Amino acid sequence: MKVTQAYRFALDLAPAGERDCRSHAGASRFAWNWGLAKCKERYEAEGKWYSAAELHKLWNAVKKTDPTLAWWGENSKTAYQEAFRDLERALGDFIKFRKGERKGKPLGFPKFKKRGRCRDSFRFGTGVMRCSGRTVTLPRLGTIRTHESTRKLARRLENGTARILSATVSRTAQRWFVSFTCEVERAVPERHARPGSAVGVDLGVKALLTGVDDRGKVVSVPGPKPLRASLRKLRRASRAHARRQPGSANRRKSAARLARIHVRVTSIRTDALHEATTDLASRYETVAAEDLNVAGMTRNRRLARSIADQGSGTARRMLAYKAEWNGGTLILADRFYPSSKICSACGWRKPSLRLSERTFTCQACGLVMDRDQNAARNLLKLALAASGAESLNACEGTVRPGLAGHVPVKQEPGTADAGKTGTASRQQEAAV
Ligand SMILES: [Zn+2]
Repeated sequence: MKVTQAYRFALDLAPAGERDCRSHAGASRFAWNWGLAKCKERYEAEGKWYSAAELHKLWNAVKKTDPTLAWWGENSKTAYQEAFRDLERALGDFIKFRKGERKGKPLGFPKFKKRGRCRDSFRFGTGVMRCSGRTVTLPRLGTIRTHESTRKLARRLENGTARILSATVSRTAQRWFVSFTCEVERAVPERHARPGSAVGVDLGVKALLTGVDDRGKVVSVPGPKPLRASLRKLRRASRAHARRQPGSANRRKSAARLARIHVRVTSIRTDALHEATTDLASRYETVAAEDLNVAGMTRNRRLARSIADQGSGTARRMLAYKAEWNGGTLILADRFYPSSKICSACGWRKPSLRLSERTFTCQACGLVMDRDQNAARNLLKLALAASGAESLNACEGTVRPGLAGHVPVKQEPGTADAGKTGTASRQQEAAV
């Protein structure tokens, strides 16, 4: 089975290489802005805009005659080309959203990009892209040392089970990364190694994730220690940052520090999630989790909550593709299904549940249980119902039909959700 998978590596750049990266990121930004201005112009005059191919043609004509664009040759031509493609996609997404064909956060008209206010990034769609052991080779930039080993991808390229489709270079908090989007040939089993096994997973705030499986076993993955330490640091740094005078040098410094800690928190969390989701997907055929509440997660001022939300989106994406690779299925509960408010023993529904309440207490049957565990048990019922199992092995009895009228939605990996969150290129190297 062919899948699209991304491999991401941190680059160890020499000063000259870093200059080249900045230059390419600038070129990509310039091309986006130039194309957007052209599209706006045409839209006002004719009610339509240019496609990426048309923009590329226009650009090729203009760049050689306009003396203010004489620098164009310093950068790979694909950096401009790919920026036009991004713009085309952004315009298309905006139209889809307006027509109601696209779910998710409200999407505005594409905006002009400003240096320092947007992500520094650029993409190569063609040209020599390679990697071997500890280096990567990119068009124009040449061979660059990587911070970690690229062996996994190098081996796949060697034996022909992977092909690089594109390479995106981007900067996060002073560090440059390359992410290869690859077409990978994976051997996927017909059926999961443990047929009939199921687990319900609550993606939490306090614990990284809490699962309950079909034998009633609790699988709890606490946040790794360095994560908790970094979170404390992050809280302190963001308070310090808030006290700095806007526009001051100290404010700039504290912003850079804050960004560095953010990257660290995210990468520790991602690593831990990779490990946990790989384990879950290999051990259980059916995995049920809550769907992502896209609208509700954006505006939450609670630091821990907002970071957990980001992490749970990542975890869902990982579970979706890893379940598929193992011959299993990920079931996503309707996002209005209140898994943490329902008693997993008797079905009584708690009218309200504050985030600070860590224990679920049922007023109907007297069940007292850890909040996340109770939620995981409810999700397990969905998993069992979806996998066709008749009853729960655990003590509380059978699955009630219908589960309060909510039908679990089967997740097709790499389709609806992938489009919604733009995943393929953001998937990290899978720790399989
Ligand atoms: Zn109860």
